[in-house]
Amino acid sequence: MPFAKRSLGQNFLQDPNTARRIVAALEIATGDHVLEIGPGRGALTEWIIAAGPARFQALEKDRELARTLPDRWPSLEILAGDALEHRWESLDAPFYKIVGNLPYNIASPLIWDFVSRARNYGRAVFMVQYEVARRLTAEPGFGDYGALTAWVRNFAATSLLFKVGPAVFRPRPKVDSGVVLFSPLAKRPDPALAERLAKLLHGCFQKRRKQLANILKSQWEDGVGQWFAEQGLSGTLRPENLSPRHFLGLAERFGDHFFA
Ligand code: SAM
Repeated sequence: MPFAKRSLGQNFLQDPNTARRIVAALEIATGDHVLEIGPGRGALTEWIIAAGPARFQALEKDRELARTLPDRWPSLEILAGDALEHRWESLDAPFYKIVGNLPYNIASPLIWDFVSRARNYGRAVFMVQYEVARRLTAEPGFGDYGALTAWVRNFAATSLLFKVGPAVFRPRPKVDSGVVLFSPLAKRPDPALAERLAKLLHGCFQKRRKQLANILKSQWEDGVGQWFAEQGLSGTLRPENLSPRHFLGLAERFGDHFFA
């Protein structure tokens, strides 16, 4: 077995019970197409095969592992390549299920892209660093709530399923992990609105300690202040106090004017 590559975030899961629980959360049904990100040495793969999906593809960047996996599971279609460059737009039906024990160094950008670019899917289950799991599932007003939270939650409902300690991996990571479930929302921003929302979120959360009336001061007198009043929101609030839907509403009404 080749050595684990730190550059590819390879912490391999050793505990069959954790693997079984992650795959069970995907609720694979007959006819489902499963896409696994980073199958590695196959800890989850084995359970996915056992669930009997109609089609099973896996994206693996490590060429050595990508070459050997089909010897063990001939029905597995390996897409050797980088998940960060995957065309998520090709997912466009509720029978797609996506799963992965994600390499921690790419989890946030990958989830950012995935939720916003996949057109439709049934559900996704990702294991990520626990701190990221908390950000993905935080409520407004809490310290973990940030741009990633408000972005993801305009596209998907999220829930933290369970926490996983470092002892079940080889090599052991230094931190805890969390398993998060994603279910796409029926109504999601289109690409043009999503672009405005991304700009607004980055601009606001770069100054997360400041009050919104201050962050948005150049547009405040041009209707933004009035919009806040109409929503019953005070300009003294900070970005972490605004809900995902409030950010979307702002981007929809004034998006072109923010942080141009
Ligand atoms: N699923 C296995 C498990 O649970 O033991 C491996 C998980 S390991 C944390 C992450 C896996 O993602 C590794 O197999 C690694 O090679 C792969 N990987 C890392 N970066 C990747 C990328 N950009 N695209 C696709 N796979 C990647």
